[in-house]
Amino acid sequence: MEIVLSGIRPTGNLHLGNYFGALQNFVKMQYEYKCYFFIADLHSLTTHPTPADLHGNVRTILAEYLACGIDPDVATIFVQSDIPEISELYLLLNMNAYIGELERTTTFKEKIRTQPDNVNAGLLTYPVLQAADILIHKATKVPVGKDQKPHLEITAKYARRFNQLYKVDYFPEPEAFNFGENLVKVPGLDGSAKMGKSAGNGIYLVDEPKVIRKKVMSAVTDTGPTEPNQQMTDGVKNLFTIMTIVSAQDTVAHFKEKYNSCEIRYGDMKKQLAEDIVTYLTPIREKINDIYKDNDYLRKVVNMGSEKARESASKTLREVREIIGFKPF
Ligand code: AMP
Repeated sequence: MEIVLSGIRPTGNLHLGNYFGALQNFVKMQYEYKCYFFIADLHSLTTHPTPADLHGNVRTILAEYLACGIDPDVATIFVQSDIPEISELYLLLNMNAYIGELERTTTFKEKIRTQPDNVNAGLLTYPVLQAADILIHKATKVPVGKDQKPHLEITAKYARRFNQLYKVDYFPEPEAFNFGENLVKVPGLDGSAKMGKSAGNGIYLVDEPKVIRKKVMSAVTDTGPTEPNQQMTDGVKNLFTIMTIVSAQDTVAHFKEKYNSCEIRYGDMKKQLAEDIVTYLTPIREKINDIYKDNDYLRKVVNMGSEKARESASKTLREVREIIGFKPF
């Protein structure tokens, strides 16, 4: 069975974009592939989180993944720092990673701009750690957004380079993976094309109903259409897109008709949309809150995931050490 791997940095709560754009697919994927989902806490150290924040964020993501339907008995869900083999493979891969190519990575160049006071070596070698994450489980399919594609190409290059250097056919080259045809992109409530954590335009899975209502009611719209079938402005288009994702088809059809006949009242549409989001998210939010508090369950999940992940990781590392020439006496 093909191996799929996906990681997420523990830097805050998941929003509707993460849910519909990624998690919902992961939940389906876990029954068709051998899936590894991990919380990339080592990666998050590049921004120097406090110990309390780091642990809290790992717990948050874990609870959110589980609440959304990732089944720890089906998929392997683990915390990156629990698997020391990843760090060792990272060290080994660093020997074949060239400074020049790492410096040319667009994400690194961007980090130099956005955090000029903290350009640490971890940032430079971020793609090497990503390669270690993927290659340690010999994953062949990696669901990635467009921005991460260059990193995946670097991983493929390191896999090739390792194979060539040691004249083996050991690491498979991973490829970007779009599961299913309907890859949804959830737009922002501010008229922008994408809901994002840093953009501050998102609805979080843990948002309380009153927070959701407030956010939706203040979403960007316009003064309303003045002629039938008028082209929509970005904010209005976004509201319809979100509605298509969370609401019933006839609800969308109803408001489309109102829009096309210039009778729409955005206030009514927003009220309906907010209620549909609340209905959708309420069971998920309640589950997240329950799981977040259940330390025994979380410990059990993490221990189980770590055991499964280490089984695969230690096998790879043993073979890599052998290939490199670290041989037991
Ligand atoms: P991020 O939180 O940006 O690191 O994204 C984590 C995952 O969620 C990635 O697979 C993204 O492609 C996906 N994602 C993030 N924002 C959106 C969005 N607005 N629409 C669809 N997918 C998204």
